[in-house]
Amino acid sequence: MADVLAEILHELIVATRILANEKVLDAFGHVSVRHPHDPQRYFIPRHRAPELAEVADLVELTLDSEPVRPTDYRLYSEKVIHGEIYKARPDVHAVVHHHAHAVLPYAISGQEIVPVFHLGAVMGKVQFWDQRDEFGDTNMLVVKPEEGASLARALGSHWTVLMRRHGATVAGTSLRELTFRTVFTCDNARLQSQAMAHGHVDALSPGEAKLTAAHQSRPPSTNRAWDYWVRQIEKAGLMPAPTAAQRTSGARAKAGAKTGAKRAPPKSARKTSVKSKRRR
Ligand SMILES: [Zn+2]
Repeated sequence: MADVLAEILHELIVATRILANEKVLDAFGHVSVRHPHDPQRYFIPRHRAPELAEVADLVELTLDSEPVRPTDYRLYSEKVIHGEIYKARPDVHAVVHHHAHAVLPYAISGQEIVPVFHLGAVMGKVQFWDQRDEFGDTNMLVVKPEEGASLARALGSHWTVLMRRHGATVAGTSLRELTFRTVFTCDNARLQSQAMAHGHVDALSPGEAKLTAAHQSRPPSTNRAWDYWVRQIEKAGLMPAPTAAQRTSGARAKAGAKTGAKRAPPKSARKTSVKSKRRR
């Protein structure tokens, strides 16, 4: 049980850093995950730039977005976005709120984002929410539970909601699915903007979008992309410290390698021989 929780919390930090590295999150935005053993709670980092968040920064909140244990940490003012979506959607296990510039032109103009390439279909039918409709002039932040509940209603049974003049909120059944959906929604928005500059936008048909979303949301795709994005954050030096279980299994793997199972010659050696042949 403890291992599952430790893995999920580690994965939350990995997802957060992937989304920062992919330019979805910047100084602002946040990712959360539902507690794997208690659906009435969720975890979210304390108030800080997402790329800087560590496992030690995670706070456990009730679905009313109140800390389970007293904490001195300052919390995100928009945490109710997460709590109210978890309340309304038992199938949702991960949520991100962001202000990615790829989607903001659509949140400003009201232009619909439509799937313009196959991977874009995973965003589903994108919903719109305007805080002003129900709450008039505000500071634009979703801070009251009723504001979060209103946003959750606008999301409905869908996965992505654009927030007028502010940003977007995305939901997922897991952190990996959420990351996949969020990155490809931003890619789709960027491609749609470029295609609109060319003139005609040829979107997927509703049937294509449904079939493609079902196919691409499965673990063979989401895990493959996850592994790729993990490699990107490793290269960027952003990978968080491993969990205790990951350290143990890593040490075991190293020890196994030392005991000397037969191994193929290293790739680098093979490459060198090809190069040297070419030189000749
Ligand atoms: Zn925001």
